[in-house]
Amino acid sequence: MDILLMGPPGAGKGTQGAILADALGLPKFATGDLLRDAVKRGTPLGLKAKSVMEAGHLVSDEIILGVVREELARPEAAQGVIFDGVVRTIPQAEGVAALLAERGRKMQHVLYFHVSAEELLSRLDRRRAMEGRADDDPEAIKRRMSAYEEQTAPVLDWYGETASTIPAVGTVDEVTARVREALGF
Ligand code: AMP
Repeated sequence: MDILLMGPPGAGKGTQGAILADALGLPKFATGDLLRDAVKRGTPLGLKAKSVMEAGHLVSDEIILGVVREELARPEAAQGVIFDGVVRTIPQAEGVAALLAERGRKMQHVLYFHVSAEELLSRLDRRRAMEGRADDDPEAIKRRMSAYEEQTAPVLDWYGETASTIPAVGTVDEVTARVREALGF
């Protein structure tokens, strides 16, 4: 089963994605984590992505589709993947759909984690204090939020009825219960 988690930075995709991956026995794949790791290790991919990420902009569709292609080629990904924040533009949605179709698969569920803007800002503030991520500073956060509004929000419509909205407020367990209900397990 292939599931896409969407939502602005700070909506809880990472937390719920890990819980879901565990419950379903599927790998979780987050382009944000993969890119951060590449930056840390100074790989060619990391060198390309570093300044774009630190500024809070989106890296190119070409880079993202390249890493998704590699992920899907891993044997561990044969039964499905929890895609955490992997699709953020319409060309990426189209490209990922084509890569899945090559394997006779499609995105079966798209979960959109919805949180109010004020709540997101206070969560990101707390995360910055805890994790010290370079792209959690106020200016970069603003740009990530507008990248989300301008480029990623329209992707939800692209998925149409495949997408469901999860109110991502309350405790982690409460949100997990809503996720399970949306997925029917
Ligand atoms: P995240 O941790 O998911 O917020 O991702 C951190 C940063 O990685 C984003 O602000 C983007 O610069 C980049 N990134 C991650 N996933 C994507 C994607 N699917 N498309 C474009 N850029 C991405």
